[in-house]
Amino acid sequence: MKIDQNKYRVYDWKHFMMIHWMLNPGLVFNELVLGQRIPKVMLEDKTSNKPRFERTLVPCPHCDTLHDGRTWSIQNNTAFKNWFGLYCPSCGGIIPCLSNFTSLLLLAVTFPIWGWFRKALKAQWLAKQPERFRNIDVDIFPDPFANKGWIAYGLMFGVSMFLIIDIVTPLLTDEAITCFHLAIGVPVWIVAGLGWGYFMKLFSGKRGEKL
Ligand SMILES: [Zn+2]
Repeated sequence: MKIDQNKYRVYDWKHFMMIHWMLNPGLVFNELVLGQRIPKVMLEDKTSNKPRFERTLVPCPHCDTLHDGRTWSIQNNTAFKNWFGLYCPSCGGIIPCLSNFTSLLLLAVTFPIWGWFRKALKAQWLAKQPERFRNIDVDIFPDPFANKGWIAYGLMFGVSMFLIIDIVTPLLTDEAITCFHLAIGVPVWIVAGLGWGYFMKLFSGKRGEKL
């Protein structure tokens, strides 16, 4: 598979995060017990200005699909139990993963015990994967301003501004709080708050686009 180096930064075993995964013996627990795995190759979209975890991609060497890195995440219940590698929901193949050196050593030493069952265990594991990856949602880290989120945000912003400007500040400065002030303040801050909320929705929605 050819990777466009102008668009993607490639992370492979030479990257310090990957080297750490291979060398740190503490990660044996993650790998062998929890089944947490790191793919051998990860890509970072250089043309995107999203937060890193949103622009990390995992290529499948079998079908060339570029998967969103969040395909295997705690939110999707797919971060763990990947003992045999990362399952590709597109082609059903297994995306090769790095191995921790201590894990490899442990597996080699205990091979006589588990080696007999390897094939059966793998087949059993593989059979369960399509179900696990049926409803993958990579947008479950929601944009707080999307849909009607901006209204709640805007109103909360308006209420706090109203309290600070029209109630707390006059109290601190010994200024009288009149009904007139309040009658003006409430609608002004509702409108201003909603305006701010809507601006944040637009602003946040643009984050993923190229600047
Ligand atoms: Zn695939």
